[in-house]
Amino acid sequence: AEPAQDPDGNPALEVLASVFGYSAFRGQQADIIAHVIRGGDALVLMPTGGGKSLCYQVPALVRDGVTVVVSPLIALMRDQVTALRELGVRAAFLNSSLDAAEAREVERAMVRGEIDLVYVAPERLVTPRFLDLLDRTKLALFALDEAHCVSQWGHDFRPEYLQLSILHERHPTVPRVALTATADAQTRAEIKDKLGLTEARVFLSSFDRPNITYRVVPKKSERQQMLAFLRENHPEDAGIIYCMSRAKVEDTANWLNQQGREALPYHAGLPSEVREANQDLFIKGEGIVMVATVAFGMGIDKPNVRFVCHLDPPKSLEAYYQETGRAGRDGLPADAWMSYGMADVVGLRQMLEQSEAGDSHRRVERSKLEALLGFCETSACRRKVLLNYFGETLEAPCGNCDTCLEPVETWDGTVAAQKALSAVYRTGQRYGAGHLIDVLLGNATEKVAQQAHDALKTFGCGKELSKAEWQSVYRQLVAAGYLTVDLEGYGGFRLTDAGIPVIKGQQTVKLRKDPVVEKRRGVHDAL
Ligand code: ADP
Ligand code: ZN
Repeated sequence: AEPAQDPDGNPALEVLASVFGYSAFRGQQADIIAHVIRGGDALVLMPTGGGKSLCYQVPALVRDGVTVVVSPLIALMRDQVTALRELGVRAAFLNSSLDAAEAREVERAMVRGEIDLVYVAPERLVTPRFLDLLDRTKLALFALDEAHCVSQWGHDFRPEYLQLSILHERHPTVPRVALTATADAQTRAEIKDKLGLTEARVFLSSFDRPNITYRVVPKKSERQQMLAFLRENHPEDAGIIYCMSRAKVEDTANWLNQQGREALPYHAGLPSEVREANQDLFIKGEGIVMVATVAFGMGIDKPNVRFVCHLDPPKSLEAYYQETGRAGRDGLPADAWMSYGMADVVGLRQMLEQSEAGDSHRRVERSKLEALLGFCETSACRRKVLLNYFGETLEAPCGNCDTCLEPVETWDGTVAAQKALSAVYRTGQRYGAGHLIDVLLGNATEKVAQQAHDALKTFGCGKELSKAEWQSVYRQLVAAGYLTVDLEGYGGFRLTDAGIPVIKGQQTVKLRKDPVVEKRRGVHDAL
């Protein structure tokens, strides 16, 4: 782009107004954009709908040269480029949907500086041909969208993202901005590390989505529960229902249609024409329910999705946040509804234990699963727990989640919490729930003997609760922020500052009576 200037000397605002037709920046956009225009690297964490695109589109038009946007989804690229062209921006994409002649045309425009933004798929970016093209192009900026795809622990992992650090190696003076709507502390560290962004300034926006009402119901008959929920709250609204398996997606969609709700299936096993057609119908239609696996959703821009239901729990709180975040992008009230049962927990645990992953990978996965279960079981404000997971503190309960709206039954867990925390403390803040529960229950395992943990005062002091109940206690203590999981080390629990008054008996703790635990003791003991 030609460097723009306006009378007030703020080229960013001038571009915002003249190209995009907006009068003011939102949230941290102004700071981010100013930093990037000055040539700084940035890691932008902003919830879906927060306005990430402008954070690189405006600098692309202000800085001289071509901005390269790395984006993992072809459909998303096409939409963005179409929208930009309608605004008169010189934008193009390079991906497998172009034929050789079309691609050459875009490449020529890049070298001649006749283009301001080019969107590229990561697999193309790292090819020798493209790298050579970059060497011959005057570059303004690299924008790495959906940066969490670099995380090997995440469900959107794209191996090609690991190679993106090559951009910085070859073009060290070109600024980079990495953007994502989903990153817990662990993923953030991984993005910085893998993309070589350790020096980048981090812009963390609030992840709160105040218009979404969070609800988690204990599973009895999930379909009937969900149907009742939809009939009462969303008889004619569009929404998404997530299921774990393809078969369940199809069954559920068929069943909903029999119940008089227009529902379409979406999963990676369907032919691509069917998937695209269903996605189109969902986006353009009104009141259609999309029943899908997690294959559906990334980059879908439908502002009036009024509900997202999970018939099966997601893999992690990050996944949950991202999937439920597709509801209510227009800012109007929307629901996130999940049904959760003990069998799901068993299933997720088994999947985890049977996975081929290495020990450290499994440890991270396990702690992510525990955080999710903690969220399901909490008696505290769900929004508080969710935001806490992303490192944000919500001062007061939100008043817009099921635990706020209909307080759950609790029991006085002060003594149990003291025992659980003291087991953590006395064993040196190194162990996870499994071993700690053995200590509490007085199980003379090999590990207990090795560490002489049978000599501790806490050994066998917790026989009044079952193994499953202790697991729930630990999850709730993590969810409440009394314990953290030490991911730098071996994934053991550590006390937080908030946990100290509890262990000293200066603070009472209320724990949730888990109706799932109460009813399904049989299944539970098998855990
Ligand atoms: P994200 O990529 O973070 O999900 P988008 O970049 O798609 O979000 O932006 C979401 C919506 O908000 C878009 O319709 C965009 O045009 C609009 N938007 C972004 N920034 C502004 C702004 N400063 N003023 C008005 N609308 C904005
Ligand atoms: Zn709440």
